[in-house]
Amino acid sequence: QNIKRHFSAGGGMFRKTRRAVKAVDGVSFAIGQGETLGLVGESGCGKSTTGRMIVGLLAPTDGEIFFQGQSIAEKTIRRNAGKNLQMVFQDPYASLNPRMVIRQIVAEPLLLQNWGSRAERDKRVDELLERVGLASYHASRYPDEFSGGQRQRIGIARALALSPKLIVCDEPISALDVSIQAQILNLLTDIQQDLGISYLFISHGLQAVKYVSHKIAVMYLGKIVEQAEGDSLFSNPLHPYTKALLSAVPEPDPSRRERERIVLSGDLPSPSNPPKGCRFHTRCPTAMERCKTEEPTPLTVAEDRQIACFLYE
Ligand code: SF4
Ligand code: MG
Repeated sequence: QNIKRHFSAGGGMFRKTRRAVKAVDGVSFAIGQGETLGLVGESGCGKSTTGRMIVGLLAPTDGEIFFQGQSIAEKTIRRNAGKNLQMVFQDPYASLNPRMVIRQIVAEPLLLQNWGSRAERDKRVDELLERVGLASYHASRYPDEFSGGQRQRIGIARALALSPKLIVCDEPISALDVSIQAQILNLLTDIQQDLGISYLFISHGLQAVKYVSHKIAVMYLGKIVEQAEGDSLFSNPLHPYTKALLSAVPEPDPSRRERERIVLSGDLPSPSNPPKGCRFHTRCPTAMERCKTEEPTPLTVAEDRQIACFLYE
């Protein structure tokens, strides 16, 4: 709820230029059990920072994160929540320790929580590898013996080890060959159906998100600009930024192809110095005078639809 994460930039010799980088600046959303929330936006908009705060890899500078109704700020609660909140990382090459065999990698979260005996952990690892579609004889191999897709399966097995309630998937397919992206998405949705877990699915592209998400939140420069059910967001995008993102997605249905392509002018401004007023005003095709100075707050405009834009006040 309203979480923020500010980093200190500059510093050193240039102390005077030090300023807070508001990587995530007041973001709120809720994810229900067995549900996937897609978090979409261009790189640098604060998606990964948001995900890292949820699993406890980063602490919010402000705001609170609730897990099953309890704020996870306190240490003891954070430790318990830690088992339930896991992460799958973007880069399956960098996220697996090359000096550990797969059995050690997948068992690591179990060991950290003193889970079971050695034999029980071995059994659990075999189950997990099977769940992600890898034979257990792979357990004694090293990560560099696997393809990108297989490594991401290993990363998913590790994330599942402690039977979490929520997994943050940070761009889990963007480093993979296009030909195997769908396999990993299918694996994630199968696992969700079996286990009833929830995902925060982070992506810079709407296409992958469309396939897996029940709800979607669109982020721009550290803020969520629109949130909606997946279907209604795709059939009826409202925020000018969502419209622009969607217009870049190829439309396979010819009857809907007349949707015009909106090309955003200008570069993505730096998150260390976001524009005043509405942060999107420098690129918004429908910006008005007040957008340069006033900042829109998120409004609920329909059931399950929130927008931060003066056009919908
Ligand atoms: Fe565009 Fe203004 Fe809406 Fe921002 S508030 S998205 S600048 S119309
Ligand atoms: Mg990222």
